[in-house]
Amino acid sequence: MLVMKFGGTSVESAAAIDRAAEIVRARLSRHPVVVVSAMGKTTNALLAIAAMAASGHRDRALTMLCNVADFHRREADTLVDLEPLFEELAEQVNAIAIAGELTPRVSDAFASSGERLSALLVTALFQRSGLDAVHIDARTLIITDDRHTQAAPLFPETFDRISATVPELARDSVVVMGGFIGSTLSGDTTTLGRGGSDYTASIMGAGIDAEEIQIWTDVDGMLTCDPTILPGGYRVKICSFAEAAELAYFGAKVLHPATVLPAIEKDIPVRILNSRRPDVDGTLIVADAPRCADAIRSIACKREITLVSIVSTRMLMAHGFLRRVFDIFDRFQTPVDMIATSEVSVSLTIDDTRALDAICAEIGTFAEVSVEADQSIVCLVGDNIRRTPGVAARVFGALKDINVRMISQGASLLNISLVVRSADLHSAIESLHREFFENPDPMAFE
Ligand code: ADP
Ligand code: ASP
Ligand code: MG
Repeated sequence: MLVMKFGGTSVESAAAIDRAAEIVRARLSRHPVVVVSAMGKTTNALLAIAAMAASGHRDRALTMLCNVADFHRREADTLVDLEPLFEELAEQVNAIAIAGELTPRVSDAFASSGERLSALLVTALFQRSGLDAVHIDARTLIITDDRHTQAAPLFPETFDRISATVPELARDSVVVMGGFIGSTLSGDTTTLGRGGSDYTASIMGAGIDAEEIQIWTDVDGMLTCDPTILPGGYRVKICSFAEAAELAYFGAKVLHPATVLPAIEKDIPVRILNSRRPDVDGTLIVADAPRCADAIRSIACKREITLVSIVSTRMLMAHGFLRRVFDIFDRFQTPVDMIATSEVSVSLTIDDTRALDAICAEIGTFAEVSVEADQSIVCLVGDNIRRTPGVAARVFGALKDINVRMISQGASLLNISLVVRSADLHSAIESLHREFFENPDPMAFE
């Protein structure tokens, strides 16, 4: 069996879904299970509607909802009745407006409609194109904890449910389900975090012991740099699970960071492919990728992160200081990405600034804190970094005109991360890409 996940742009319209149907048809003998994202940017639209309703603009929210509904109605072309879902959404808008707030639980229930709509619509359009497609509500299979908006799957429960239903259905039919969404054991709808449909695909892949997990998207594969920052990067033909995980964690949006975990567990290859150019080989992600001649595999970046610097003379020769600092970040559930320390200071970066004021107030009781917004992390990733001397020197050489705020190498052996001002991000990536990919190994890149 094969898992094929189609992202937002790959199901953005009836025409795109027809293209996906042909891609699936060409692989019918491998018994595909199809996981779909919400159409186009529907999740963004739904979250904007919910926020609008919560801020008291009910009528404006309902107008926005009409646009989402009209778009789906037009693409569905009377093939499937989506009206009950639109009615449910309108009721939710009213309830959110009355409550005047959007709880994570309600946000999940609301945002899940994107995938619920697209899964129904894709099933109907697949059937129209002659495929024997059957729909399964993902919430009956993907069971999670109750950390709404960032729920984690409960694997034993989820795998039990998947193996009890999916293999049998997939023998004769194309199973279609929404990504991103799940439910708690008590039946509350949850979501796996933004971009989570990739994760659904790999959970499904592990659950059915798939031969391969395919992530169909709008680029040719993992590229050597983020194409929205620097176009013209090369396609990475093959990379390791560890490299892909590191790239995804440090901002390569083409893959949700958790995607490779279930695949590693069952050693299932993951392939990133372009639904507009299905003949391109894409990027194959496996446990051990063959070595290439180049020091790094790709450059990822995380935009708009915040640099927090903490200085205290009490840190001098003292123990327990770092624990005190990290306890505070932990209590406010704020993950720290990068850390550098000196005798009397520690600098770190965070992505989620929601609790930053409270965190600074607490740290301020025993140290001086300063905060700098508009920073970015640039992360060079490659298994070869640890085998190649002089990579750091080449990084500094390439960035000699840029003020590097922080650097870290070693923690994972396969990455070098640095912090630059967001204003310098483009030129930093351009210089690094020129330095490391001037003549890429044709066996590894195209
Ligand atoms: P989907 O809707 O198919 O899940 P996403 O928008 O989540 O697609 O991910 C694909 C996008 O990831 C690409 O269009 C590209 O802009 C972005 N991206 C960021 N970094 C990379 C990278 N290193 N390689 C490829 N794509 C990347
Ligand atoms: N639709 C969800 C999102 O936009 C999940 C996904 O597309 O992977 O975040
Ligand atoms: Mg995605």
